[in-house]
Amino acid sequence: MKILVINCGSSSVKYQFIDTDTELSLARGMVSRIGMAGSVLEHKPHDRPVVKLGMDILDHIVAVEAVVSILLSANHGVIKDKSEIEAVGHRVAHGGAHFTDAAMITPAVMTELRDLIELAPLHNPHNIRGINACNKTLPGLPQVAVFDTSFHHTIPPHAYLYGLPYVMYKRYGIRRYGFHGTSHKFVCERASTILGRPVDQMKVITCHLGNGASMTAIDRGVSVDTTMGFTPLEGLLMGTRSGDMDPAIILHIMAREELSLHEANTLLNKHSGLMGISGVSSDMREIIEAANSGNSMAQLALDVYCYRIRKYIGSYTAVMNGLDALVFTAGVGENSAEVRRLSCQHLDFLGIELDENKNQTARGRDTVISSAGSKVSVLCVSTNEELVIARDTERVIKSMTGSPSKTSATV
Ligand code: AMP
Repeated sequence: MKILVINCGSSSVKYQFIDTDTELSLARGMVSRIGMAGSVLEHKPHDRPVVKLGMDILDHIVAVEAVVSILLSANHGVIKDKSEIEAVGHRVAHGGAHFTDAAMITPAVMTELRDLIELAPLHNPHNIRGINACNKTLPGLPQVAVFDTSFHHTIPPHAYLYGLPYVMYKRYGIRRYGFHGTSHKFVCERASTILGRPVDQMKVITCHLGNGASMTAIDRGVSVDTTMGFTPLEGLLMGTRSGDMDPAIILHIMAREELSLHEANTLLNKHSGLMGISGVSSDMREIIEAANSGNSMAQLALDVYCYRIRKYIGSYTAVMNGLDALVFTAGVGENSAEVRRLSCQHLDFLGIELDENKNQTARGRDTVISSAGSKVSVLCVSTNEELVIARDTERVIKSMTGSPSKTSATV
């Protein structure tokens, strides 16, 4: 099946057009600065160079129209007719407790997605905008929502509950949900293939270290705990997000700095993390460069970042009563030998031993980077969330219709 995978942000639409039969990404790209001056469509067909087109893109509907027309264009396109797009798969951040798997988008599902905005006000509204835009531009096409949270639905109550009055959970659904589920699942399965060991016989910790970062404890293929919680703010230090902290701190800062809710939210999500500590950058490349040139604040940010990863490796090994594989993925995890080295330091008591030569040369390859004698296999694996979304989209459509249908999902 040929599936258009869409990932909508507040001012961007990322896309990939994937043939699930060959698992080839026929084209990929991004529309950025939607609704602002200087909107750009950057598009890369699999067999030709990148093109960058400046255009006026008022909203997400115009953005999706631009994506469809470039897929059809004579010079840069990869299809001749709109009908070659057989379905759309959407990345949706929050599926709450209800969506334990990907779901065909129907009017009832749209109502539930709107109800979930309360849980994910920063992400779900844009995902809904993307679904509506595809419905306008590609009417009648099956659309499937694939949730960042679904993979974590197996986390048990003792791991997902916070120490708040239970009524807060019952009333507002306040619990750990976890995110990056498609990525954690994908790289865990990929690691099991590389190691030639069945996933249902392994204890794995996956570290998705990108702009957002999270770790998951996967016990025999099942997510049993993860670092992101009610929102993607909890857990590891990230580019601009604080990760774990004493909740009383925010009350204290709001009172002392007279911050509004909105300002406090911005402080935690946009001005904290690597950026907040170092004052240099949210980009790990720039942090490492500055640290190597003697910038002590960049070094401190890097130390906090890797210390927290180490702490969770220890914690999740205890949660699972053992560890067989540790997997690094996403922008930082795949590319930074330095972060991998610092994150695995002083963990030899757990049986984690890196081969520094393999670690340094791993970039861009899915490979084992632990030493031959290491009890725990450490791997570097490229994530591919879009491929998981395309596979899930096809699976849901085929399970509902027996074959691809063009009429079932009109919203
Ligand atoms: P992602 O969200 O997975 O696209 O990851 C993006 C982040 O990966 C960037 O903000 C960088 O911090 C990080 N990154 C990309 N390349 C490298 C690299 N060579 N070394 C360290 N970090 C990198």
